[in-house]
Amino acid sequence: MDPFRRRSLPSLSSSSIAIAIAENLTSLIIRVGKNRSNNISQLKQIHAQILINGCINSSTTLLTNFLISHYRSHGGGPHFPLLFLQSLPKPAEPLLWNSIVRFSIDSDNWSDFSCFYNAMRLNHFAPNTTTICSILKKCVSIAALQFGESFHCHMIKLATLFDIVAQTALLDFYSKLGNITFARRLFDEMPERDIVVNNAMLSALGKNGFIGDAQNLFDNMMPQKNSCSWNVMISCYCKSGRIEYARSIFDRCHLRDVVSWNAMIDGYCKLGWLTNAQELFDRMGTSKNFVTWNTMIAGFVQARQFNRAIQMFREMQSERVKPTEVTMVSLLSACAHLGALDMGDWLYAYIKRKNLRVDVVLGNALIDMYCKLGSVETALDVFHGLRVRNIFCWNSMIAGLGMNGFGKQAVTLFGSMGSQGVKPDGVTFVGLLSGCGHSGLVSTGKNFFSQMDDVYGLKPAIEHYGCMVDLFGRAGLLDEALDLVKNMPVKPNAIVLGSLLRACQVHKNTEIGEQVTRRLLELNPSDGGNYVFLSNLYASLNRWEDVNVCRKSMAEKGVQKTPGCSSVELNNTVHEFVAGDFSHPQFLQINAFIDVMEKELKVNGYEADTGLVLHDIENEEKETAIKYHSERIAVAFGLMSSPAGKTIRVVKNLRTCNDCHSAMKIISRIYEREVIVRDRHRFHHFKNGSCSCNDYW
Ligand code: ZN
Ligand code: ZN
Repeated sequence: MDPFRRRSLPSLSSSSIAIAIAENLTSLIIRVGKNRSNNISQLKQIHAQILINGCINSSTTLLTNFLISHYRSHGGGPHFPLLFLQSLPKPAEPLLWNSIVRFSIDSDNWSDFSCFYNAMRLNHFAPNTTTICSILKKCVSIAALQFGESFHCHMIKLATLFDIVAQTALLDFYSKLGNITFARRLFDEMPERDIVVNNAMLSALGKNGFIGDAQNLFDNMMPQKNSCSWNVMISCYCKSGRIEYARSIFDRCHLRDVVSWNAMIDGYCKLGWLTNAQELFDRMGTSKNFVTWNTMIAGFVQARQFNRAIQMFREMQSERVKPTEVTMVSLLSACAHLGALDMGDWLYAYIKRKNLRVDVVLGNALIDMYCKLGSVETALDVFHGLRVRNIFCWNSMIAGLGMNGFGKQAVTLFGSMGSQGVKPDGVTFVGLLSGCGHSGLVSTGKNFFSQMDDVYGLKPAIEHYGCMVDLFGRAGLLDEALDLVKNMPVKPNAIVLGSLLRACQVHKNTEIGEQVTRRLLELNPSDGGNYVFLSNLYASLNRWEDVNVCRKSMAEKGVQKTPGCSSVELNNTVHEFVAGDFSHPQFLQINAFIDVMEKELKVNGYEADTGLVLHDIENEEKETAIKYHSERIAVAFGLMSSPAGKTIRVVKNLRTCNDCHSAMKIISRIYEREVIVRDRHRFHHFKNGSCSCNDYW
């Protein structure tokens, strides 16, 4: 027998078969992976083939990694990879174990993670650098400081060598979770440093407010600086509010890239210096990316220039830059402020059409917008459709229900919060208590208020006392409200007193009203609204002397009342009207319409109630002033410019006055239109001559 044949043939054929199978399976897996419409059962078939053919060698490590990552992208759990590992004839390779440990971290499953990790340790394998980095990164993202610290100890005990990459991850972990002292120690003790770790330290120092130290490190990094080092310094200075320093670094930077521009623009936007931001934005030309656009849009929203934000979005689209989830969050907030429901609906449709990821942030933005626009149904749909909900989503939904007058539903939702294991916080109770207030649920509100400390261990803060004062006040229990104000452990602020004052006005209690106003003026002498309240209170009592004193001190202190401003959306454009403002291009037509509307109102039994207007304006003038209240101009414009039957939505910055409130009721009847006004305090859904607030707001 030929010894050569005996020795070589069998071994050659078995390895070549294994390689052939592995290669075939690899190409098969790649094909399955590319075609997303394939379902997981095809992966399982390939998995079975690997097990049957027993082709476990070094090339199958690659194959298994492929398999794991494709299970991941096809939404399979870690169960199958574990099954695979357990069925291997000999202990799997360290790379495989590391893959599977990382797989469990990415799947957010801690029990799987500890199971895989312990199994790996039992097989005498240690985590490699990639796995260490993944674990630390996860700790940062879920703010698990303690876990990360014990992991660090565990690594020291195992005497695992941290290479420079793992050390950088560790430094990043400590600095991002606030332990800058430890981060610095790690940095100082590092035997060698590279540009990445230097930049990580720069960023850590900057984020923790050690700008001087950051600058020192930056200066001594010479000549080893890359564009990232410069950008970190620009951000450091921007975040500390020292924008001139940031700009000087930006101007000196010879490695300027799109990130530098974005950081500088962001710095200007955060300070509200939109002109400077826009100037840089325009200079960027075609080098802008989606981050640049998002930064500008967010800047306009933050500066409350909502229309500019939307205009910016249109420009972004016309330049064919793809909007992201971040863009949507900013725009939804703009729509909420403007009362632009059509635009908001369009954005929601866009999000669905483009398959944007509705995570807790975007979900919360949608819930918040729909609640603020009075579309509670849609907000609830979004809320129930969310796969993961955090406390912010619950809080928005509970507050949204309450603000729209669905107090009972808010209470029910609060109940299911506990059963789903979410612990309420102070904000939850603000929403809940104010919801009880808006729906007249006095005893329920009182119960929740006492449960706060007793059951949930939350000490009521000033906002909660405010809600309770408001709740009593709305229900006409003015003595109870005043009692609470006098006995609360914190000093009442303007918001608490203001809500009591409004209650005094609604329930025509001048005695308590006067007391409260005096205290309010002591607290905040520059709030014009308080003077107007006081002055009107005196006027209603015919105490003209006091009215004059009041007005004089207003003039002396240079106090000005915030002008009323209302906006209404029409064909995706938001029109803003300020009280007595005649600057709208169609003002002549609007004015003519207002005159006709006034006549119609009078025919239908409307009489101007001038009780809330400062007394020295003559009666006729009073009427003129009232008819130009911003929400009236907005509604008139809405009526004349939109098709019959279309709901008109107005957002107003101040509380709507009694007079406009009665006018709106009549308008909703005679023009057969639903009119929704969101004022500073709540929603008014006017329909068929009555309002959802039952004249109580
Ligand atoms: Zn008014
Ligand atoms: Zn109302």
